[in-house]
Amino acid sequence: MLQCTAVTPVPYAEALLALATMKGGPEHPPDVLEPDEFLLCELGEHDESVEHAAYLWAAEIPDVDQDLWLLWTGTGAHRLYRLDVLPVCPAILRNFVTSTVTACMYFDHHPGPHSCSVTDPLGELITGESGS
Ligand SMILES: [Zn+2]
Ligand SMILES: [Zn+2]
Repeated sequence: MLQCTAVTPVPYAEALLALATMKGGPEHPPDVLEPDEFLLCELGEHDESVEHAAYLWAAEIPDVDQDLWLLWTGTGAHRLYRLDVLPVCPAILRNFVTSTVTACMYFDHHPGPHSCSVTDPLGELITGESGS
């Protein structure tokens, strides 16, 4: 399954406030977010009844897995945002052939398949060139 291609400009003031007030947020929110930043929906392709979700920040608290997400529906002037701190999806994919473990990077109770079965259409273009 391919990744959803929805993009949104970040609602900067709201996002900064959410980063500043969340537990385990960054010390200096403007350092991690640009005012003209665009965020990509991370989910697998979905229909319009499902909110788009862009990952903003992982809380830095020991033993707590929570991320700040920007969720939105609609486009242009009809775009509706909400920022939410959500627990991480507990799903883990074990590959017995390569004996690797991949954790789902979405939030708990997310719609659609886990992140392991979603392909980033842009990511495929750069595969093979990364030396890291
Ligand atoms: Zn989406
Ligand atoms: Zn998942």
